[in-house]
Amino acid sequence: MSVKINVSEIFASNVFDDATMKQRLPKKIYAEFKNTLLEGKDLEPHVAEIIAHEMKEWAIEKGATHYTHWFQPLTNITAEKHDAFINPQKDGSILLSFSGKELIKGEPDGSSFPSGGIRATCEARGYTAWDCTSPAFIHEAPDSTPVLYIPTIFCSYTGEALDKKTPLLRSMEALSTQAMRIIKLFGDTTATKVVTSVGPEQEYFLVDKDTYDKRKDLIFTGRTLFGAPAPKGQELDDHYFGTIKERVLAYMTELNEELWKLGITAKTQHNEVAPAQHELAPIYDTTNIATDHNQLIMEIMKKVALRHNLVCLLHEKPFAGINGSGKHNNWSMSTDTGKNLLEPGDTPHSNKQFLLVLASILKAVDDYAPLLRMSAATPGNDHRLGANEAPPAIISVFLGDQLEDVLSQLCEKGEATRSLEGSQLETGVSTVPRFSKDATDRNRTSPFAFTGNKFEFRMVGSSASIADPNIVLNTIVAETLGQAADILEKADDFELALHDLIKDWVTDHIRIIFNGDGYSDAWVEEAARRGLPNIKNTVDATSVLADPEVIKLFDKHGVFSAVELAAREEVGYENYSKAINIEARTMIDMVKKEIIPAVMEYTTTVAKSVAAVKAVDADASVQEKVLKEITTELSKLDASVVKLEAATNASVKIEDPKAQAIAYRDDVFAQFAEVREPADKLETLVDEKAWPLPTYAELLFNV
Ligand code: ADP
Ligand code: MG
Repeated sequence: MSVKINVSEIFASNVFDDATMKQRLPKKIYAEFKNTLLEGKDLEPHVAEIIAHEMKEWAIEKGATHYTHWFQPLTNITAEKHDAFINPQKDGSILLSFSGKELIKGEPDGSSFPSGGIRATCEARGYTAWDCTSPAFIHEAPDSTPVLYIPTIFCSYTGEALDKKTPLLRSMEALSTQAMRIIKLFGDTTATKVVTSVGPEQEYFLVDKDTYDKRKDLIFTGRTLFGAPAPKGQELDDHYFGTIKERVLAYMTELNEELWKLGITAKTQHNEVAPAQHELAPIYDTTNIATDHNQLIMEIMKKVALRHNLVCLLHEKPFAGINGSGKHNNWSMSTDTGKNLLEPGDTPHSNKQFLLVLASILKAVDDYAPLLRMSAATPGNDHRLGANEAPPAIISVFLGDQLEDVLSQLCEKGEATRSLEGSQLETGVSTVPRFSKDATDRNRTSPFAFTGNKFEFRMVGSSASIADPNIVLNTIVAETLGQAADILEKADDFELALHDLIKDWVTDHIRIIFNGDGYSDAWVEEAARRGLPNIKNTVDATSVLADPEVIKLFDKHGVFSAVELAAREEVGYENYSKAINIEARTMIDMVKKEIIPAVMEYTTTVAKSVAAVKAVDADASVQEKVLKEITTELSKLDASVVKLEAATNASVKIEDPKAQAIAYRDDVFAQFAEVREPADKLETLVDEKAWPLPTYAELLFNV
């Protein structure tokens, strides 16, 4: 039986969105609220009071008993504390209430979230405040009453951001301020702000829950720390866009339904390159809403999977030797009147505003490449960036033939006079309608690719919040647009100054453009020649936050104060150390309690077999050979795990966060390979019935 979903009926049915507000709020209040949004002013208490009341009534109609201020601490996941609407009356009855104050401000205990030293444990007070640009919604779960979710920011008592949302909103404002200066120079008098949009494509793996439950590494770290390759991997290219299995499709169907109810535009679903890997892409939205939605997508992906006896893995590298998962961050900026600043038009050579914006982005990406790299750094993503699959850790920009041609005309002749055009596609099949093809092919290996009217930042990891990369993108582009505006606003001859600026910036930053194969070794060498940074791990990437230029940049645009930035640097190191510590402890535990005991038991069986065969004077050389191979690997494994344990015990004691992270990287993480190698070898030597862990074959091909 197929499932029927009335999409238009359920879509956004659980969102207190614009349409719902318009319908439910008194006209005057609705107008005042819209005005507040438009002008970015503080919400008047009487407006908040009425909105809160209507929001509560609406939520109660949907069965809600609780509300929560939902926020995004520095953990890549979200946080929530539920409060019931109940308000006991003197006569013993219960009133269900929700005030304007409760809507606008919450006071969660701030001490138990990472703060990078901003909050001492004793100074617990933190505040959540409604981000009224992202609509409230109802979250439903089986066997529970629905809860009203209010998207909020999260700050300390002294006003420092303790979350990812606050700086994201600040960066959106910074970009708008500077981009407005540019579009005004080009005569736009109607736009009032510039908004950045993001469409994040989310990759994920699905594994069977029963199989998953037998692997402590998946349970504790989200990735396999051991595992010999399966006989089949992804070499047949038969998974990407392959037929979706019925069990997976049933999962996707329920996932879509849940997301649609929340007004999340789940649009595209397909199998990805690796076996058991899939992707979901929503339609792009304003950056802060896209960020909220991406958090919800990740969370709901995991919850729905459990209902299908599956587990959704969002780790960047769950399986060695198999493609990892990322999150392509498609980014653009448009005026509130709907003009996309990244739309080149048919003749980009004559679109001077576009060329200026493009030159500013090239400059931003080149000037702040280490910062952009930092924004995608997580311990999990270290396995992808620099490994021979996803984008390397080098930042470069792909523009495609058409724009590259325009820019080289500019650099070489000082003037761009023509744009390459797309031609008709010749399929050789007369019954297929003819259509024109794009002026530019795609490049799948570039970490930062122009794709027609947006940039696709492909380095972001699958488990990460998209807030960080967008904070950085918005801020660095705000900076260079601002620099351009500084020059052009003062120019006596605007056209001439514009021409020179575009030409100079393109010439100065041409090294960041690379249209070739980003996965090749040749590119790594070429990039080094060009002086492009290649930051290979999270610890080095995190240290970029201490760069005086970076501190100045964020401070200038009001995105992070120096204190906030130092806190994020510290949290970056701490998160890294904690992640590696958990992996090390899990590895040690699995080796000592599962792998070594299983191998010992198996060697006893083989040893007995040697003795029995020898007792009847038969040839026991195979048994002896197997036994020798196994015991050799077993002693290697034992020795390596002793070293790992010592390194972990030493690292955990280091107090300075940066020194500790370096130790976890150089002494602990570096030791993982030495433990894994003999363990994986043993997996291939020991009888599969005796091996204590489900294999890669079972994990990857069992759904
Ligand atoms: P592909 O996998 O071919 O790159 P997808 O369709 O999977 O493309 O994803 C592209 C993403 O980019 C979608 O989320 C889409 O909504 C988004 N997108 C399209 N246009 C823009 C734009 N102007 N700004 C930001 N994102 C966009
Ligand atoms: Mg895609």
